[in-house]
Amino acid sequence: MKVRISIPGTIRQRVGGKGEFVTDAGTVKEAMSALVSQYPDLRDYLFSGEERLRNFINMYVNGDDIRTMGGLDTKLKDGDTIIIVPSVAGGGPESELTLNEIMRYDRHLIMPEVGVNGQKKLKAASVLVVGVGGLGTPAATYLAAAGVGRIGLVDFDRIEFSNLHRQVLYSEEDVGKSKVEVARTRLMAVNPNVVIETYPVRLDSSNALDIIRNYDVILDGTDNFPTRYLVNDASVLVGKPVVHSSIYRFEGQASVFMPGRGPCYRCLYPEPPPPGLVPSCAEGGVFGVLPSVMGSIQAVESLKLILGVGEPLIGRLLIFDALEMQFRELKVKKDPSCPICGSNPSIKALIDYEEFCGLNRNINSDEEIESDLLQSWLKEGKRVEILDVREPYENQIWQIPGAKHIPLSQLRNRLNELDPNVPVVAYCQVGSRSLAAVRLLKEKGFGTAKSLRGGIDAWAVKADQSVRGH
Ligand SMILES: [Zn+2]
Repeated sequence: MKVRISIPGTIRQRVGGKGEFVTDAGTVKEAMSALVSQYPDLRDYLFSGEERLRNFINMYVNGDDIRTMGGLDTKLKDGDTIIIVPSVAGGGPESELTLNEIMRYDRHLIMPEVGVNGQKKLKAASVLVVGVGGLGTPAATYLAAAGVGRIGLVDFDRIEFSNLHRQVLYSEEDVGKSKVEVARTRLMAVNPNVVIETYPVRLDSSNALDIIRNYDVILDGTDNFPTRYLVNDASVLVGKPVVHSSIYRFEGQASVFMPGRGPCYRCLYPEPPPPGLVPSCAEGGVFGVLPSVMGSIQAVESLKLILGVGEPLIGRLLIFDALEMQFRELKVKKDPSCPICGSNPSIKALIDYEEFCGLNRNINSDEEIESDLLQSWLKEGKRVEILDVREPYENQIWQIPGAKHIPLSQLRNRLNELDPNVPVVAYCQVGSRSLAAVRLLKEKGFGTAKSLRGGIDAWAVKADQSVRGH
C-alpha cells in the first residue's frame, strides 16, 4: 500500500526539512520502520526501548487516533495518511526544579495531573502571546504565575488611558509607555523564574514566521482581522497550535486550532467580514471584565496543551455570553477545501493581510481632515459645521463643542438640516462611520464634506488633552 506520513514542523529538521514521507507499508509500524530507517535521528525521538511509541507522541490515520484502533499494528489502505503529533513541549530539554520552584508550585505538584513532571514540562515550554491587551494581560499573568518557562509578548502599542478599565496589569502612571515593556516588568515581579521575551513590533508577513516558530503554543489575543488571519496562517505553516479568543461587548469566543488534528481559523471563518461591518472594541465597546474571563480560558487551554491533560477545545467553538451568563459550544469541522490547512492548500506562504481584509482603504485625500487642522480652523474662526454621526448614547458621553448631532442611520432623511454652503466635518468614534457619512454627503451635493480622521478618539489624544480626565 502506498501511504503518506505527514511530518509536523517540530520534527522536520530531523528529516531534512521535509513535510511528508511516502512509502509502501501494510501497517503503521511498517510505515514507521521505513521512515526511521531512512532518518535514524527520528528513532529515539519517536520510540522508547522496545519499539514502543513514546508517551508524548500521538499518531493518527486519516484523523483517527491509532490508540483507538490497533495501535502500531493498525492496518493501512492505499492512500492513507499517517499524522505524527508530538505533544507541544515534549521535545524541550527538561530541567530540574529549584527549591524556590518546588515551594512556589506546591499546589501544582500535589495534583496528579501536573506533578513534578508536569511542572517540568511547563518550565521547558514556551508560549507566544500576540497582543498584550484585554486578553493577553490576564493570559500572560496566569502563564507566568503557573511557571511557563518562556513567554513571548508581541505588541507595538503604547498604553492608553482607555485601556485601564480592563487591562488590569497596567496602572495610570503607565499611560504612554510601551505595553510589552511594562508587562515584562510586572510579569517578572509575579514570577522571576520565567523568561519574558518582548517584541515591540507590529506582527506582519515579514516577521511572523520567524517569531512564531520559536514557541510551542501561540496565544492569539489580537483585536483585528488582518493579524488574526496572519497568526492563523503562519501557525499552520510552521505547525503550531493557536489558542484563540475574540471579544465584543458582553460576548466572547474561544477555540484551539491544532494543525493536523482539527480545523483552523479559516475553516471556521473562511473570509473576514467586509470592513466596517463588525465594529472593533474601540468602536463598539467591551465590558471591562469580559476579556479577563476569555483570557483566562486561553491560559487554561495553553496549560492543558503543554501538560497533555484533558480535552482541548480542538474542533469546538466555545461561546460565552456574560449577560445571560451562559456558555454554549458549537462543533467546528475541518474544511477539506480550506485554502491553508485543507488537502490541496492554495496559500503556501504569507499574503498581504490588510488587502485580504479589504483594509487597503482607498481614501481620497479630500475625504478626511486631521484633528490638528480642524483645531486650527476652529481657532481661526472658520465657518464649519461639525457633525456628530454617532448614536445618541455615545453622543451623551461628550461631544466636540458646537457639534450638530445626526446619527448616521438618520442622515439620509435629515439632509435638509444642513447648509450645503457650509463645509461639513463629520466625526464618530474612530473615523469609519463618519467616512461613510462623508461619502453620502458628497453624493448629495455637499462637495466639501470631510471626515475627522481617527474620530473623537484621535481628537481626544491630539487636540484636547483635557478630555482624558473626563
Ligand atoms: Zn483550515
